[in-house]
Amino acid sequence: MPSRNIKSLHPDVQPLCREFLRRCQSANLDILITCTWRSGAEQDRLYAQGRTAPGAIVTRARAGQSAHNATLNGQPAARAFDIVPLVDGKPVWDASHPAWQQAGQIGMELGLTWYGAPGAAFREMPHFELC
Ligand SMILES: [Zn+2]
Repeated sequence: MPSRNIKSLHPDVQPLCREFLRRCQSANLDILITCTWRSGAEQDRLYAQGRTAPGAIVTRARAGQSAHNATLNGQPAARAFDIVPLVDGKPVWDASHPAWQQAGQIGMELGLTWYGAPGAAFREMPHFELC
């Protein structure tokens, strides 16, 4: 199971993630963390999606290439987390919903790289990373 725990993030990213959630809450933006850390095996499974397995392509990274796979002293220490905004308690996957821009803005103000930003290397709306 991939982790959704903030403690699976790199120590530098944990306070940013907590502050991100705090600011979102202040902005009346309900956010669900869908993933912090995932193992190499989980990453490869995700990479297969849309290629050799059913579904849409959701990542360009193989095992060890994603900021979600990072470790520190052998422990999970992801440098990225994924989110989805909740509206009326339901996840909103439609990227054109304004909640995404709002969350993205808040993340970028904290110095995180948001892959949903215009001009991002590739579009991955849920992904925030400390580069
Ligand atoms: Zn991600």
